[in-house]
Amino acid sequence: MKEGNNSLLNLLQQNWGYTSFRPLQEEAVTAVREGRDSLVILPTGGGKSLCYQLPALVMEGMAVVISPLISLMKDQVDQLTSRGIEAACLNSSLSPNDKMAVDRQIKDGQLKLLYVAPERLLGGSFLTYLKQFPISFFAIDEAHCISQWGHDFRPEYRALKILRKEFPEVALHSYTATATQKVRHDIVQQLGLPDPEILVGSFDRPNLHYSVARSGKKKEKLLQLCGLVERHKGESGIVYCISRKSVEELAKALNDNGYRAIPYHAGLEDEPRKRAQEQFLNEKVDIIVATVAFGMGIDKTNVRYVVHWGMPKSIEHYQQESGRAGRDGLDSDCLLFYSIADLITWKRILVDLEPEHQRIAFTQLEEMESYANTTRCRHRYLVEYFGQAFEKEGCGACDLCLGNIETNPDSLVIAQKILSCVIRLNQRFGVKHTIDVLRGSKAARVIQFRHHELSTYGLLEESPASHVEDWIAQLCEQGFLSRNDEHKTLFVTADGNDVLKGEKIPRLVQFESPPIEAFIDDSWEGVDTNLFAKLKELRTRLAAEEKIPPYVVFGDAALRDMGRKRPSTHRSFLMVEGVGKKKKEKYGDLFLEAINNYCEKNGLEMDIFTRSPKSPIKLKPIMNGTKQKAFDLFGRRKNVEEVASQIERASSTTRGYLAEYLDAEKIIDPTPWIDGALHERIGNTIERVGMDRLRPIFEDLGGEIPYDQIRVSVTCWKNRDAANESSQS
Ligand code: ADP
Ligand code: ZN
Repeated sequence: MKEGNNSLLNLLQQNWGYTSFRPLQEEAVTAVREGRDSLVILPTGGGKSLCYQLPALVMEGMAVVISPLISLMKDQVDQLTSRGIEAACLNSSLSPNDKMAVDRQIKDGQLKLLYVAPERLLGGSFLTYLKQFPISFFAIDEAHCISQWGHDFRPEYRALKILRKEFPEVALHSYTATATQKVRHDIVQQLGLPDPEILVGSFDRPNLHYSVARSGKKKEKLLQLCGLVERHKGESGIVYCISRKSVEELAKALNDNGYRAIPYHAGLEDEPRKRAQEQFLNEKVDIIVATVAFGMGIDKTNVRYVVHWGMPKSIEHYQQESGRAGRDGLDSDCLLFYSIADLITWKRILVDLEPEHQRIAFTQLEEMESYANTTRCRHRYLVEYFGQAFEKEGCGACDLCLGNIETNPDSLVIAQKILSCVIRLNQRFGVKHTIDVLRGSKAARVIQFRHHELSTYGLLEESPASHVEDWIAQLCEQGFLSRNDEHKTLFVTADGNDVLKGEKIPRLVQFESPPIEAFIDDSWEGVDTNLFAKLKELRTRLAAEEKIPPYVVFGDAALRDMGRKRPSTHRSFLMVEGVGKKKKEKYGDLFLEAINNYCEKNGLEMDIFTRSPKSPIKLKPIMNGTKQKAFDLFGRRKNVEEVASQIERASSTTRGYLAEYLDAEKIIDPTPWIDGALHERIGNTIERVGMDRLRPIFEDLGGEIPYDQIRVSVTCWKNRDAANESSQS
């Protein structure tokens, strides 16, 4: 077994030039080799193709890969043949001569992989034809197309169940990036897999840097977009718009500003549409501005950013579209512009749906809205949305974790004002009216209901409406407020009541600063960028000669690694990430010559193999200055009042920092902040009532001890328990 895997690793190294498997690839390959049916779920860029390509190489016979898209097949076949692996596809785009050539290859037993569309496989007598040859296995790509619950149901995929009947001895393997339980179940059912190996990968894409910008004026938006494009000069990016009109407008604006951008949408004729796609793939233009019509089956691995100029209509769409960035595992940016106006646009577009579908569509929109308004980590949000746990504390790769968005120090007080206002309004009014009352508006509706007489009238007079609106959205996202399904009126949840009592503290933030500057991209570490640019030119030239996309010659990761390691010999060239035997033979001389020349001319050291580009170091989230100062003062055991006055913040805010400090530093002794005897007393109470919730403790103590003192004590007791546990194990 061990030996078997060792040789798999050798195959990976020799043919692909990769040094290790990505998560679950090895398991997936093993399932194929053992002939056990499988369902493999990996996110976009997770490396699904390798799961069947690698075993196909070593198994007897020919693997048949079922794939829905011609462009996808062609790309994969190009990639395989460039690695010296015998592969071909059969589809309607082939000429009769080409078809005959493929038939010949099959008959000669040369092919290791054959790609076909489902229509072709099941149409005519193709299955009978296939039966003459040894088939190693069937691989079904984009397997979610089988399921009605998937976002891309294709009826012809349903008919694939016939494979089990016609080829009872041949294993079926299916691959998709779609996560939901329902779809998974459906695939297994439809294909008739009795006991498949099911492998579900993590949905986190740590190399994608997510950020959300509030979209204000178009001009500011464009400025922000250009800032991002500027940082990725000469690299590929996709910008998604909701409407064809904005595609056209934006493509023009980008060109006017000196960037090479091309529009793409379903309203274009076939010819210009195809040309746009090709120019993007062949890197004749950097930016494609497109509607969602663009992207299915685009395998380009070096897309460095995906921007959503308008908000997508669901998290699934967002995940899929933004997921087209960074398939090669290198750091990439995903920026979403969010505005209420987009929400309204979508609602208008979706208005014609049947009631049932409309309800689902609106819920999905709300989830998208909630993503934009979350104040926690965006990676966490997405991963949890797809039903997985997010283990890390912060991701180091989203606008929220990178900390350039500060928590409002008065979060608790502001939240309490908003929540009490909602209660004073008898929880019968929507967002807009609530904002009006809080800001002391004289709108007719306010006066008519005599809401200007409420005690909460004008409590947030000083704050701009857009802030109040954001805060309400944040309270909804954090579960302190909710909206009634039917009339969208606001009401306070049980957790919201805890906020009113000061038992829970929400996090309110202002999204003002442009969030795109803070991501420090360390995948360039050690890379000579001029050399990289030279090698890229060489790549483009070779690709044009061979009529294949540049990234098929070498991916960005390989070129950067060349610019980093600067190999001088064929032997050391093989140590570059993504260089296998075949590619070394084919391109080695040319690339080595370019590298040698450059290094000689610039006096650069060569053959540098010290640091592996793998496991890039991620920055720790930056704490805001005030909080850092508070932590330092607490470390010197200053009390709350003293710290509050030094950092010039309300004592409620300071107590919030104290709680975070105790938790972060795992403090056991709370005595500078509460009395030792009281701490013991609370300890006794905890013995009786537990410490999951503060309220029972508060009540048990006769309702006299303030919550924040209880919180300090409980945190320290918890820390002590944790310390005891870890010392025992
Ligand atoms: P998916 O189909 O899951 O979206 P692909 O199969 O297109 O992903 O793979 C994405 C990229 O990752 C490709 O460039 C592929 O060559 C690369 N890749 C796959 N496996 C590995 C690996 N083990 N090490 C490094 N790169 C890999
Ligand atoms: Zn994060």
